[in-house]
Amino acid sequence: MVRLVENKHYSENKAIEKLPLPQKVYLPLIQHLGKICNPEVKTGDTVRLGQRIAGVASHVSAPIHASISGRVTAIQDWPHPVLGRAKAVVIEGDGRDDHFLFGLKGQQEIDKLTAQDIRKIVLDAGIVGMGGASFPTHIKLNPPQPVDVLIINGAECEPYLTADARLMVEKTAEISLGITLVARCLGVQKIYIGIEENKPEAIKAFSKISGIQVKVLKSEYPQGGEKQLIQNILGRQIPRAKLPFDIGVVVQNVATIYAIYEAVYKGKPLIERIVTVTGSCVQNPKNLLVRLGAPIKNLIEFCGPLKEEPAKIIIGGPMMGIAQYADEVPIIKSSGGLLLMNKKEARVLEEDPCIRCAACVRGCPVGLEPCQINLASEKTLWSLAREYGALDCIECGICNFVCPAKRRLLQTIKRAKLEVTK
Ligand code: SF4
Ligand code: SF4
Repeated sequence: MVRLVENKHYSENKAIEKLPLPQKVYLPLIQHLGKICNPEVKTGDTVRLGQRIAGVASHVSAPIHASISGRVTAIQDWPHPVLGRAKAVVIEGDGRDDHFLFGLKGQQEIDKLTAQDIRKIVLDAGIVGMGGASFPTHIKLNPPQPVDVLIINGAECEPYLTADARLMVEKTAEISLGITLVARCLGVQKIYIGIEENKPEAIKAFSKISGIQVKVLKSEYPQGGEKQLIQNILGRQIPRAKLPFDIGVVVQNVATIYAIYEAVYKGKPLIERIVTVTGSCVQNPKNLLVRLGAPIKNLIEFCGPLKEEPAKIIIGGPMMGIAQYADEVPIIKSSGGLLLMNKKEARVLEEDPCIRCAACVRGCPVGLEPCQINLASEKTLWSLAREYGALDCIECGICNFVCPAKRRLLQTIKRAKLEVTK
């Protein structure tokens, strides 16, 4: 684990604001790990806010809903923040925000919901892991073997990002209700929330909630990785090629929990999320509540004017985020941050040959030898890369960060991961 310059001061005290309703949204048909959705609307159709517009009859998937009301004007190829390009449903808004089927449930009604009912609501609402992983949440709520611990991930260890921190402070009661639902669904009694020590307000807020143990974690990167979180809270280790449920644990991010609360209590599908807009180029950094599909240029304009032209725009944080090539790229379910870096911050240093210092090996939080995977990948020796454990890489970027030769290890490891899973 490493200590990084946090740079959270830009936005950590900024209360969540709503981004004005976008005139157009671009909703990619893939916003989750799993099968791409099929559109269930066609060009010219009128849609209401929250109406399901795409889905697929596959277990590993999550449906997509209209994030504004209006008319479908196209289903076309469009920039995608993770995949480069993907097919998207384009909706031109009518400004009415006319919504579909939202409905408040009373506590008595909610108390009668079975685990299966809760999972069905989560699936129908299109909820996926909002900490960046995008794994469909209804599957995580149905582990193949019993678990005894639920860990809520409130670490938000990426520098700059503050969306989860604000959510924990401003929506403590709602997140607590969501946690109770998830614990009921999993049948667990032991519930922990892991929060880094740099978020004292969130720690204070959750310390008042009974039934949830707050674990104050060091502000170190990648404290929010599932493996690190479980190790640091429970002292349990996930063996190689295993998942948290193999050792009796389910981990859920706070934003995902909030989405579950909204789906169950308000009947609201996943149509918006909180995004931190930040960085040295941004005049007014903010934590914004953004409708999914809104192009990032809307967020940049709303936080402007810019202090200087950004040299690099990243969706996510500086360690795990992805650089973007177009400002038309939309916010999707996994986009927790928008980071605008200036020339100095974004400069790419020239790579030198590996000096075999092993700094990357010492730094890797999952015990890999990044330099070896890098070599295997450069020589296209994919089975060797697999033997070195490329698939266990959590893509935290620490190896790049610590390497004195400025080797772009993560990029080659990512390539190896893709190749070995082909
Ligand atoms: S190899 Fe993967 S997990 Fe290890 S430090 Fe590099 S990016 Fe992180
Ligand atoms: S940190 Fe960089 S220079 Fe050192 S062993 Fe790893 S790849 Fe080589």
